Amino acid sequence: MADAKPGNAAPAKKAATGAFTPAGVSPNRRARRSYTIRLWAVRHSRFFEWFYHRFANAFLMLHPLWNAIGYGRVERPITFIERNVKGLLFDCRMCGQCALSSTGMSCPMNCPKQLRNGPCGGVRANGNCEVEPDMPCVWVQAWKGSQNMTGGQAILNVQKPVNQSLRETSSWLRVTAEAAAKREAEKKEVQA
Ligand code: SF4
Repeated sequence: MADAKPGNAAPAKKAATGAFTPAGVSPNRRARRSYTIRLWAVRHSRFFEWFYHRFANAFLMLHPLWNAIGYGRVERPITFIERNVKGLLFDCRMCGQCALSSTGMSCPMNCPKQLRNGPCGGVRANGNCEVEPDMPCVWVQAWKGSQNMTGGQAILNVQKPVNQSLRETSSWLRVTAEAAAKREAEKKEVQA
């Protein structure tokens, strides 16, 4: 028993540090489950783009409510929902600064090297990852997904490095708070 294998506890510990870890299941099972849904989301990137715009607007309309309750207070339940919804659809890693709209609905945090601005030089001839050979390269998928989107050219925008202090926080709330602040500033400018 002394040499007991760490099993899935080791990846969980590693994930807590912010480092990339494959989902805690075997590659084959992941290929059947997560990859299938993730790839489906990329194939339907145009629909998700359309849906996200409406969803973001609805969230912004609710800004007075979030403000009344307190953004700090709603952070936990919204993060819980965001983690589960986006985890199921995109295999989201909760980086807290979502780039899906700029990456063809393919989450860049699933890249084992966590590259946010395109693929490394190791993409295999079949379009799979060099680190996880059973996984389609998230950046090859990102390019495909972006080609279906009306705002697909956003993939050419340079993404900032990941701010690790935002991990496990809600992108939805952050984007909403920022949009609300921008709207207020514009209103003030017009009144001035
Ligand atoms: S970019 Fe970040 S927030 Fe968006 S799906 Fe990927 S890990 Fe989640």
